[in-house]
Amino acid sequence: MPTCRLASAMFHWDNGLKLTKAGLAIDFRRRQPRAFISHAHADHIARHEYALCTPETAALYQYRLGPRPTLPMPYRTPNQWGGLRLTTFPAGHCLGSAMLLAEDDQQSLLYTGDFKLGESATAAQAELPHADILVIESTFGRPDYRLPPRRQVLDQLFALVRETLNDGAVPVIQAYMLGKGQEVTRLLTAEGIPVLQHRDIFAVSQVYEACGVDLGRYECFTGKAVPGWAVVVPPRTGGTLEGLGRHVRIAVTGWAMDPRTKYRLKVDHALPLSDHADYDELFEAVARVAPRVIYCTHGPESFVDRLRDAGHDARPLGRSSQGRLF
Ligand SMILES: [Zn+2]
Repeated sequence: MPTCRLASAMFHWDNGLKLTKAGLAIDFRRRQPRAFISHAHADHIARHEYALCTPETAALYQYRLGPRPTLPMPYRTPNQWGGLRLTTFPAGHCLGSAMLLAEDDQQSLLYTGDFKLGESATAAQAELPHADILVIESTFGRPDYRLPPRRQVLDQLFALVRETLNDGAVPVIQAYMLGKGQEVTRLLTAEGIPVLQHRDIFAVSQVYEACGVDLGRYECFTGKAVPGWAVVVPPRTGGTLEGLGRHVRIAVTGWAMDPRTKYRLKVDHALPLSDHADYDELFEAVARVAPRVIYCTHGPESFVDRLRDAGHDARPLGRSSQGRLF
């Protein structure tokens, strides 16, 4: 490969995305000397020697992996680092979740990480700056993943929870322990429904509260139901629920768009409340960033074809990109 190409490469793939000039690994699951962490979900973190992330992500990362060296990058505050200008923007996915804008004199790259455009009760709403190169997380890159309006899903959730409580049973909502668990808690408590949280969710909620997110009236679940209170647990919680008596299980996940989800998760109801952009939001994100070229991660390859059909220069990014420069 000619040297001039090497000099202009913005990123390369080394079993994951790396910003070439800065030697900065992005969302790696294996330990790196220098890494950017878009958010603190388990599939985006490792015990890095040095991590760049928002202050909220740093708090959640350190809660999960213990005290570690980090460079706090508050939203919209440019940082000159490793020959690049780096700026984080809210990603709307969970507390602290960030997109990363990397710029040099010639070009700019926006890495979305996990994101959603719509509103959230516990995460700052996504902001997408323009970039020449867009690396987009496209989990729901299929046309059948068009989510119903959030208001409609929330009304369904509140109605189900109220019906269950009025019926003398316990509503048990299954939600990821970081992000969705706190989001559902905030939504329910704002409706006047107090929440008992599984201890793992409760522990993460303490970090949210320390970061200034008020989750309303909630307590740690000790295994006993309290009349009038909803229970929020992580997915696949079994034993803890035995002493609860009659209960109704409700999963909240974008995957609920697939009617089989309810059976797969062994719940009574599955509601499509998502922390990821749906199919239409992915296209909207692309329109807002107006990039020259798009690289898609974590999604179906068919999404790349749909972008190409719409006239974009789109390419998949993943295993097959190993060793290449971009
Ligand atoms: Zn995530």
